Amino acid sequence: MRDDYEIFIWSTITFGMTASLVIWPNDVLISNHLTIEELFHSYLGDQSKDPLEYNCRKIVLNQTILGCLPFVYSLITFFYSDLPTVSSRIPSTKLHYFTNISILILIGSLTYFFFHHNTKFTHLKPMKYLKLYSEDLTRIRAQLSTEFRNFFNFSVSLAYSSRIIISDSWVMNFNRYNFIIVNISDIQFEAVNAQQFALNETGEEVQYVSIRANILNRSIPHFFFRIKGTDFRDLQDKLTSRIEIAREIIFHVSPNERFVEVFQENVNENGTYPYPDTNSLESCIGCYATQANVKINQGCQQQGRQQCRQCFCRPMWCVSCLGRVFAGKQDQSHPEFWLNGQADCPTCRAIFCVRDVQMLRVNDEDNH
Ligand SMILES: [Zn+2]
Ligand SMILES: [Zn+2]
Ligand SMILES: [Zn+2]
Repeated sequence: MRDDYEIFIWSTITFGMTASLVIWPNDVLISNHLTIEELFHSYLGDQSKDPLEYNCRKIVLNQTILGCLPFVYSLITFFYSDLPTVSSRIPSTKLHYFTNISILILIGSLTYFFFHHNTKFTHLKPMKYLKLYSEDLTRIRAQLSTEFRNFFNFSVSLAYSSRIIISDSWVMNFNRYNFIIVNISDIQFEAVNAQQFALNETGEEVQYVSIRANILNRSIPHFFFRIKGTDFRDLQDKLTSRIEIAREIIFHVSPNERFVEVFQENVNENGTYPYPDTNSLESCIGCYATQANVKINQGCQQQGRQQCRQCFCRPMWCVSCLGRVFAGKQDQSHPEFWLNGQADCPTCRAIFCVRDVQMLRVNDEDNH
């Protein structure tokens, strides 16, 4: 017979692992579609068709599942223990007391879920904030759905299923347990601090900037988000008002980042590649933050070295990440030669040079 302490340790470890995977799914779960968002996708619907409905459902579902976790802990403890019952109307063990409380939390959570579901989520905080703009949300809902799909949004993934999107009229900050949507005219961004992180095997440093979004004119609380330093300029470009920058922030530019800028400038001179089917474009496989926006399309007339070849891969990279890939394949001790170098397509291995990379030209470019 196991003693209480051993049961406690084992069930806590098992529960900790289960719960952390539910709350912070890892890459394996994400790629196998084993996250709450994927498992319940038929309930959640299509985010790009109705982002408001999708995110209301998503946050209520995720909160409800959090509320079920204590009961899961009881079940796990029961599994490890030798008790005949997991719960009892007349509790006699610690497990029974805990289970009874967890059942109350479970009932509370399910009540919460059905309350919001049946009231069409109108009582959720984010919906109340949105109603400050208009009591009838029909028009806003339609506008959000249209703008959400715009190719030219500033859209950065913050974590799994968390994203900040800035469209022409709205700032949308979504995470798994909450979201906030504010009109762009009511928001003032402020870069409050910057941190350097050494990332991946190459040891390249990435800078993250924390941004505080202050809400003007309306009683909506401020919020924070964090983006890569390299996305900061895109954010500023999307806004009409200036982002205030705390004095201590120094934007850090590594040789690779500097190359990425030069790479982009050169790519811009190559003309564009017509790509009308924006719906089939996926996130860049390098950063998952921006949509793929370049195509390797052999067009150079370089002689006297290895011949560049046509790449037949669909667009999979954003220009910055392809620039980083390109830089990574050059002689690291001689950055001055990088621009004239060659690299191979990470997928099909076709050799290409800077002249062979073109930005995609999409249909709705003239809406921009
Ligand atoms: Zn990318
Ligand atoms: Zn290729
Ligand atoms: Zn070439």
